This record gives sequence, structure tokens and C-alpha cells, in this order.
Amino acid sequence: MLSLSQVSKSYKMKDGMYQAVDTVSLEVGAGNIHGIIGASGAGKSTLLRMINLLERPDQGTVTVDGQLLTEMPDKQLRKERQKIGMIFQQFNLVNNMTVSRNVSIPLELAGLTKSERMKRVKECLSFVGLEDKVEQYPAQLSGGQRQRVAIARALANSPKLLLCDEPTSSLDPETTAEILDVLKHVNASFGVTVVIITHEMDVVKSICRHVSVMERGRIIDSFSRDEGEFRPAAGSFGSYRDQIFSKAGEAHV
Ligand code: ADP
Repeated sequence: MLSLSQVSKSYKMKDGMYQAVDTVSLEVGAGNIHGIIGASGAGKSTLLRMINLLERPDQGTVTVDGQLLTEMPDKQLRKERQKIGMIFQQFNLVNNMTVSRNVSIPLELAGLTKSERMKRVKECLSFVGLEDKVEQYPAQLSGGQRQRVAIARALANSPKLLLCDEPTSSLDPETTAEILDVLKHVNASFGVTVVIITHEMDVVKSICRHVSVMERGRIIDSFSRDEGEFRPAAGSFGSYRDQIFSKAGEAHV
């Protein structure tokens, strides 16, 4: 579904170039929920933003759903991006627009008519359980409700892939569990592949089927859930292993 091949990204700093992501390759199968974990500054967000080319890799290729995004002309890329939804830690809603207008934005960009948009907005808001908040503004909603609106907006164009950048990091544990349930529901109902950045082991334990560990711009370890338990991928190793497993085969919180 998703294939990153040898992608790198560096940023210009005062004292030279900083390598945020260093020749990373990653495969995520269709319908998977794949976690990316690691310390702050490890390059997780940069890697995620390269998947939909919000950040263009300096080197390497990005393929989503069989389409080589890194070689695509801008116009075609804009169209392909509609198949990739994204949600963020701070929700990134437009504060002076109602809930329904927020969800409608990607549909306007995709050129749907007003009646098509209204129908789809209703469907998406009802999927996340907010059909009664249509005319409210983001400031009138709780954090969990705002993230639900953001999920509804991300689903508007029926994406095949949903990128989640620390989606629960500003939420309390109860709301986190609710949002993770919504994401599981998205995955199970529509087969949407989910890539989720987190630093919370609860999130990993709750929904991820595969996990990649990043450190200093590289993937240094990876795990797959097998019969409910995480196991290291063959041949991988890394210093995060002790933090992921409190005892053999069990991811700790
Ligand atoms: P993480 O998500 O793991 O916290 P990031 O991908 O946000 O890590 O950042 C990795 C490194 O790249 C950090 O040192 C960060 O300061 C740097 N970085 C990220 N984006 C930019 C940018 N637009 N300009 C300069 N440096 C950046």
C-alpha cells in the first residue's frame, strides 16, 4: 500500500545541514495500522510528512497505492493527495468556520457540488458521532470532539491512507481511548491503512499491528503483533527494545 524507499531529508541550520531523516525504507501493507515511535526530534513527523509530500524528500521514492508520488507532476499529485487523509495533535481546524464547513473544505477542493457535499458531510459527521454539532464552531467543542471533526474532515474524500501525527497527545486518557476506537473503526469499516506517530505506549498497545522505532533519523527497530503480542522483526535490534517490552513479548505502558 505504502512504500518508502531510501528517503532522506535534511534541513539547513545556522551551523550546517541537519539530517532529519536518513535513508529510511518502510513498507506498510494495505489495511494495516502502523505505529512510528521514538523520542522527540527523531524524525517521525518529517517522515510522516514525506508520505504525502508535504515535505519533499531530498532523495528516495514514495509510492502510495501503486502511484509513484515523488515523480508526479503537481496537478496529478494534488489529486492523489485526496486519497491521503491527515490528522494532527492540535486538530488544525479552521476556527471561524462551523464544524460542517470544516469537513466540507476537502470536498470543495475536490469540486463536489453543494448537495453532494452536504450529503457527504452528514455521513462523515455521523460516522464520528457528531451529527448534532454541525452548526457549532471548534471553540465550542471539547478536544476529543475537535479531533473527531478532524477525522471526519480527513475521511471526507474517502482516503485509502490516513496519516496521524500524535493524534491523542493533547487528550486525556479517556478521550484518547475514544479517539483510538474511532480510528480502529475507520480501519475496520473502510479498510483504510493507518500510519500513526506516537510517543505513548498505550496507543501502540491499543491499535498498532506493526511498529517502527526511529532514532536520529533512522528506523532502528521494528515489531509486529502476532497473536496479540508484539515480537521483534527478524534481524532487527535497538535500544528501545527494553522500553517496549517490560517482559518478553509484552509491550509495557
Ligand atoms: P519528531 O517528530 O520525531 O519529534 P521531527 O521530524 O519533527 O521529529 O524533527 C526532526 C528534526 O528535524 C528535529 O531536529 C527538527 O528540529 C528538525 N526539523 C523538522 N522540521 C524542520 C524544518 N522545517 N526546518 C528545520 N528543521 C526542521
